[in-house]
This record gives sequence, structure tokens and C-alpha cells, in this order.
Amino acid sequence: MTASARAHINLGAIRKNFQLIKALEPRARTMAVVKGNAYGHGLIRAAEVLSDADSLAVARLSEIKQLRDAGIDQPVVLLGGVVTSADLDEAVKLDAALCVHSEVQLQWLEAFAGSQFDVWLKVDTGMNRLGFSTKEAPDAIARLQACKSVATLRIMSHFANADDRQDPMTLDQIERFRDVTTHFGGDLSIANSAGLFGFDAALNVFERAADAGRLWIRPGIALYGVSPLSDATAAELGLYPAMTFASRLLEVKQLQAGDRVGYGGEWQTQQDTKLGVVAAGYGDGYARYMPTGTPVLVNGREVPVVGNISMDLTTVDLGPDATDAVGDKAVLWGENLPVEKIARIAGIAAYQLVTGVIHREAPVFIDHQ
Ligand SMILES: *Cc1c(COP(=O)(O)O)cnc(C)c1O
Repeated sequence: MTASARAHINLGAIRKNFQLIKALEPRARTMAVVKGNAYGHGLIRAAEVLSDADSLAVARLSEIKQLRDAGIDQPVVLLGGVVTSADLDEAVKLDAALCVHSEVQLQWLEAFAGSQFDVWLKVDTGMNRLGFSTKEAPDAIARLQACKSVATLRIMSHFANADDRQDPMTLDQIERFRDVTTHFGGDLSIANSAGLFGFDAALNVFERAADAGRLWIRPGIALYGVSPLSDATAAELGLYPAMTFASRLLEVKQLQAGDRVGYGGEWQTQQDTKLGVVAAGYGDGYARYMPTGTPVLVNGREVPVVGNISMDLTTVDLGPDATDAVGDKAVLWGENLPVEKIARIAGIAAYQLVTGVIHREAPVFIDHQ
């Protein structure tokens, strides 16, 4: 038996999440976001399951190349757009749709001859990351409408804090996006996963666009069964977690009260107890910031991480009466141990945990309907 950290990906869960998300706004078209190796779930296998999406979206040209090499010919949007003008040639070869968020990208498109792209103009409605300001947007829209390299022009914006339903910023962003797109007759998109689940009522201001089939949704994290909202679990939203990240016990040993454990000897046991050594560490994506106390599921019960995480190993306190044996399964997150819970304890985003899995061994893909 191998003892190694591995992600188990339930493709059926991704399929069900996609259907559920589509049902939230059946009139909208869906841009399924599969950047970052489909948030750690495996780019190609996830994309195959999402073949009904109207488009896929990624962050890098190299990700589109992988999709095309795998024979996936759906539309793919390059979020963020090109980084150099030379990327445009590559984007043509890969049949990419582009985001345009800056003056320089716009100029490259205006100077580009020979081919046309579907273009998403990105408007910054308050996140202050990428995009033309609402003041600059009308001019950018006019120039892109006149640009010979643009086949179809669409407009998007991105929420900064929609995971917090109490933050009025999201409502501000929706207002600004509505204002800037009032006289635009093309397709629109603003809702990521959190927007969809948390602000469905507010998004009704795009009712007319939705009725006309001009509204797109852009779910990412929710496709993978992770809650996009800080105040709701995936189960409460009806989402199915797709990833279980698990390994096995590589060692079980008796400790005496006062023994110190691991690098730095930072954890010291108060009592005689059994220590479990799990074959998973930061080299697998189970990172150093998992504090003592983080739960790991061993034989159906939660036991705490103790001491520092090593590259390949993690130590857990199995308790004085433990009967666990070498080879027993240890779930780091997933089935019966929500990744959101681990993320909260580690003080980082669940996005980072799932995307950060280092697949030293290829995931095990299953497809439970
Ligand atoms: C990543 C990304 C999304 C998806 O966001 P989630 O929070 O994962 O749903 C949508 N739109 C853009 C522009 C993105 O970069």
C-alpha cells in the first residue's frame, strides 16, 4: 500500500454544482472559471465535465494551450488579457477570447491586423485592481466598437468583497456597473460565485439584459463545491464538495508526558499519548501555516495537528487510548471535514488551500452521479 497525500476529485460533484449554479439564473450564459488548474481540481478533467458551459475562463495563455492540446474547443476567455503584444499572435492560434483592461492592451488591439477576437472590456467598479475606471470606460467602449480586431464586444466587472453579504461595497459596484452599461446593447457580466449566491436580489437590476440573453455569470469556487460566502457553508448552499485531500498514517508511536515533537520541538505533550505521523506536508500543499489544533480526520474522528508541518509529514495527537494503525486513512479536508473549516483555522482562504495542492501524485478522479 502506498502512503501518500493525494487529492480525490469527484467529477460528478462539479457537474452537479454547475447545474445548480445555472439554475440560479437560467437566463444567463455561463463562463466557467477553470484557472489555477481548475482551482487545484485538474484543468482538463474539470473542463470536460463543464462542456455545457458557454465558455471557459482561465488566467494564462499556457492554460488555454493545455485545453486546446487536450482537444477542448469551447470558447475560452483569457481573464486579464495579454501581457505583451506578441501574445496576441499566440491568442489567435489558440482561438482565445480576450479581456482588455488597460490603455496599452487597447492600443495593441488597435494596431493588430489580420484577425479578430471576442473581447471583454473590463471596467473597474471599485476593486482597484484591473480595469478601466467608470470615467474612462465610455471612451474605451467607443474605441473597441470601432476596432477592426474586435469581433464581439462585451463588458465585465469584478466584485471585491461579495463574500461578505453585509458589505455595501458590492451594491455600490452593481450600481456603478449598471450606470456604465446603461446604453450598451451587448453582453454583460459581473457576478462571480459570491455575487451569485449572496446578491441575487441586487443583481436584478440586470433583469432586462437577462431577459434579452445578454447576461453572463462567472462562477469559479462554487463549481468545486466550496462556499463563496463567509457566513454560509457549502451544504447550506446546496453545493457538493468536489475535493477530498487525504493520506495515511505512516507511523504511530507512544509518547511520554513532556516529550517534544517535530522541527523546533515547539509542541510538548502534557500526558502520555499516541502520536500519529501522517504522510502529508507542505510539499503536498498541506502548508506550514496549519497551526497546532487543526483537525485531521482519522478513522472518523477529528484529531489535532501538533507541532510544525514538515515537507512530507504532519504529526497529530491520536490520544492515549488510540487504536489507529499504520496505513489508516487521514483526511486533511473534504469528505466530512469541510475545507472552509480548515481555511478558517489556518487563517487563509479556502481558495488557496484547494488551489495550493501540489499533486506529487495525479489526483484520483471518480464520478459519482
Ligand atoms: C477568478 C475569477 C472569477 C471566479 O471567481 P470565484 O470567486 O471563484 O467565483 C470570476 N471573474 C474573474 C474576473 C476572475 O478572475
